[in-house]
Amino acid sequence: MLSKKLLDGLNAQINLELASAYTYLGMCAWFEAKNLPGMAAWMRKQAGEETEHALKLFDFVADRDGAVTLGAVAAPPANFKGVQDVWARALAHEQKVTASIAKLYDQAQREKDHATVALLQWFATEQVEEEKTTRQILEEVEKIGENSSAIFFEDRHLGKRAEQKE
Ligand code: MG
Repeated sequence: MLSKKLLDGLNAQINLELASAYTYLGMCAWFEAKNLPGMAAWMRKQAGEETEHALKLFDFVADRDGAVTLGAVAAPPANFKGVQDVWARALAHEQKVTASIAKLYDQAQREKDHATVALLQWFATEQVEEEKTTRQILEEVEKIGENSSAIFFEDRHLGKRAEQKE
């Protein structure tokens, strides 16, 4: 059985992953409105991945005979200053998720709940990749600048990368 503390933490993490999906869907909508279909596709794919993360935790809680409790998901940010702002906020969001996973991981280790530690190990590793990719894109758009025509090529490039994204 999961402890009450870990169960609450895992349920909160399910909520955060769903909030992540919603955040990226909001960013997708913003890119769509700005006619940047490549970046929109990337964000849409990312929203799908975050939903999968939520379901991975959902299944784990259920498998451990815990009760999944779904909380409210707030409306995501909808107004951005520009392309760089979106990617900067995407990176900040991933850093927040990483910190949340780390906290939960510490708790699982304190309780010597090995199965939860193993699950969160996967999430911790996944976060390294998520942060790396988002930071890379942010650095690219920072180099390009807001109004350069190069943003058009960056958008097409990210559209292709979205197609290859797992
Ligand atoms: Mg995630």
